[in-house]
Amino acid sequence: MITDFISAGANKSEDEHRRDVCTAGRLIHNRAFVAATDGNISVRLDSRRVLSSPTSISKGMMVPDDLVITDLKGRKISGRREASSELAMHLLIYNRRPEVHSVVHAHPPAATAHAAAGIALNKALLSELIITLGCIPVAPYGTPGTQELSDALEPMVQHYDAILLANHGVVTCGPDLLTAFFRLETLEHFAQVSLMTEMLGKQVLLSGRDVEKLLVARARYGTTTAATVIPGCPVTREDAAGSEQRPERISVTREELEALIEEAVRKDRAVRQA
Ligand SMILES: [Zn+2]
Repeated sequence: MITDFISAGANKSEDEHRRDVCTAGRLIHNRAFVAATDGNISVRLDSRRVLSSPTSISKGMMVPDDLVITDLKGRKISGRREASSELAMHLLIYNRRPEVHSVVHAHPPAATAHAAAGIALNKALLSELIITLGCIPVAPYGTPGTQELSDALEPMVQHYDAILLANHGVVTCGPDLLTAFFRLETLEHFAQVSLMTEMLGKQVLLSGRDVEKLLVARARYGTTTAATVIPGCPVTREDAAGSEQRPERISVTREELEALIEEAVRKDRAVRQA
């Protein structure tokens, strides 16, 4: 039976993992983190096998038998359905992060809007987010289901537990499925709060000293990110003030630049002839 309960931990029977993946699917679908057949969820069963949601099915309508088992290269071992073409992104993370036992990919609206706008969620706006996720970068665009996407993600997977995928969605990971799912929920919640502060027209960032104290707390909470401190992550009040002092840069087209110069020359001539 599929319930709405996922217990913590990765040390479970294959049947339990199958039920948990279906439950997580219903949770991400019910929260509108995906539409139609979007998204995919996986867990590492052991050192050579991964259990994942299949392609072309609503993640809110899966039953345990729908899931697919592959090896860490994506070759199918068992299952009547086919694996998702986005499984490669999950495998990249499993191969690079031995401590990760679950990966979730979804398209939650506020976080995906940031991904589509190319805006990283990297500001020191919420204390707890600095402890849980640090900051969330945007991986450059790569066509979904291709090597291009894995290549774009690769430099980031060692350092972050949640990543925005430009013009696509998000991916989160963790030591178990419950954590990977919570990170997805936390990411979307932060994206919504961040967007609301933009709408309010004001963001008061935490200071560098505040962030330092939170990073100490982060180590105490045992956050699993490989790198605990990434330079410039998150952006503090002082960082933001520093960037404001830099001269503003604008861009103009060649035509606009030529028109501006012509106008200046014309005005200069008019002044001289007067
Ligand atoms: Zn996707």
